[in-house]
Amino acid sequence: MGSASSAYRVIYLDVDGRSQKVVFSRFCSPCDIKELLCSALGLPRNTTIFLLDVTGAMVSEELFQNVLTQVAEQFSRAFKINELKTEVTNRLAMLEKRVELEGLKVVEIEKCRSDIKKLREEMASRNNRSVTRKPFLEDNKKLTPRRDMPSYPKYHLSQETVEALRKPTFDVWQWEPNEMLSCLEHIYHDLGLVKDFSINPITLKRWLLCIHDNYRNNPFHNFRHCFCVTQMMYSMVHLCSLQERFTQMDILILITAAVCHDLDHPGYNNTYQINARTELAVRYNDISPLENHHCAVAFQIFSQPDCNIFSNFDPETFKQIRQGTITLILATDMARHGEILDSFKQKVDSFDFTNEEHVTCLKMVLIKCCDISNEVRPMEVAEPWVDCLLEEYFMQSDREKLEGLPVAPFMDREKVTKPTAQIGFIKFVLIPMFETVMKLFPQIEAAMVQPLRESRDRYEELKQIDDAMNEVRGALGRAIQAQHTEVMGTLPTRGPQTHLALISGPKKEK
Ligand SMILES: [Zn+2]
Repeated sequence: MGSASSAYRVIYLDVDGRSQKVVFSRFCSPCDIKELLCSALGLPRNTTIFLLDVTGAMVSEELFQNVLTQVAEQFSRAFKINELKTEVTNRLAMLEKRVELEGLKVVEIEKCRSDIKKLREEMASRNNRSVTRKPFLEDNKKLTPRRDMPSYPKYHLSQETVEALRKPTFDVWQWEPNEMLSCLEHIYHDLGLVKDFSINPITLKRWLLCIHDNYRNNPFHNFRHCFCVTQMMYSMVHLCSLQERFTQMDILILITAAVCHDLDHPGYNNTYQINARTELAVRYNDISPLENHHCAVAFQIFSQPDCNIFSNFDPETFKQIRQGTITLILATDMARHGEILDSFKQKVDSFDFTNEEHVTCLKMVLIKCCDISNEVRPMEVAEPWVDCLLEEYFMQSDREKLEGLPVAPFMDREKVTKPTAQIGFIKFVLIPMFETVMKLFPQIEAAMVQPLRESRDRYEELKQIDDAMNEVRGALGRAIQAQHTEVMGTLPTRGPQTHLALISGPKKEK
């Protein structure tokens, strides 16, 4: 153990003008020291040595023995201190290595961060370019219906798909746009809407195709979201036997409003529109700019004869369907959530299906339920939607940061996590609303409310795991810091170093 210099100590004796070197090992006892001195002086090992003081008086043997013992102890201490020094140096080197590695990681993380920042900026600048494109009203390209027969291949839905489509457990991810269009078409036929309102089946196809073309490819507010909301409404019509309680006109309004409810959504919410003073906000005076826009686009599409599924309607019926659809689409503005739910709560205990105001309020709550119903779906179907929504939120908050606009904490990638985003929303928005609807339709408890409770519990567990991980990370960081401080504290101070120098310093040869 230890270097050569720490394994022994040397002193020099002046023997009749000659310099004699005496090497002490760390294991030397007082007896060994005495023998070493004898051999240095050229005397037999067992020679009795007397120590004289400066006056030439003899120092007692006992005292001499004590001196030898002290010298041996000092050597031993010096060796121990040396060993401790080596150990501390080694530990320090190890820690330095770790700190260096951690430092490298930090550098790598910083590099990743800057790469991500660059990518975000690039995406934001691309988005800026796409958002400043021609406003919808001037963009006739998409609005123009296709004159030819709808080009999407006819998909025959299997009996299995037809059955599954009626349930909230339907897997919305396994279908391509054409298949989703076939499902929507099937919904209009299956509910008897095509027959009861004499809708031209070809116009229905063309209209749906035009609807598809007028949803943008946002991470969340896209055509698949439109399909999800409509499919959930269709499930609720079956689950709550709504056709027994509502008129066919109400059903037509519910389904059509669901199909149209997010048309041409730009991917940035009302708050952004208002704060950034966009063209939409200016046009609609900051009052639900997006929802007003979705409605306007829907009726621009209906204004095209080839896409007007209501062309056979008399003016009074068309007025009804227009008013009903507008009311429902405008109800999807979450800024009005409290107002709409409170109004429904006042009616629910004495609900009257013959009261138009009651029925309208219920329809508003139903489209709201469907609009935010992803967490009602099985976990594997629901969870990817959270990522899509966060992606859209982050796109917005990044842009808000770039433009110096206020950023909502729930959209900020620095502040939000999947569990924190979901728990509050499920607990305080979804469950209270679905439980209120449950008073009127107890059958939704097992199919819709229970999955919401399970999802809440799952995200709460995930949050606990997240919190525990953060706790461990924090403790680890503190421990490394503490260890580092401790080692720095045990580094040899000036005292022992001076002492070592005194003991091992070579004597002058002359
Ligand atoms: Zn929506």
